[in-house]
Amino acid sequence: MICRTMSSVQTERKPSTEVARRSDGRLDLWVCTRCGYTYDGELGEPVSQTAPGTPFETLPEFWRCPHCTAEKEYFFH
Ligand SMILES: [Zn+2]
Repeated sequence: MICRTMSSVQTERKPSTEVARRSDGRLDLWVCTRCGYTYDGELGEPVSQTAPGTPFETLPEFWRCPHCTAEKEYFFH
């Protein structure tokens, strides 16, 4: 008998990013504490060429507020 190792389909685990959502399932709004700019993930951010439907949590670390260039840490939701 030949024992063959079954090549099982490996389920790739993507790093789960917790995304804050509103009660209606839409992406949560993130407000800049410096200038009051509101980031709406559903709309994206045309200035930084952020596509609509991009959660704030998945924005790159170098992302800055399009109004006052505050870093991500200055945002709250
Ligand atoms: Zn700002």
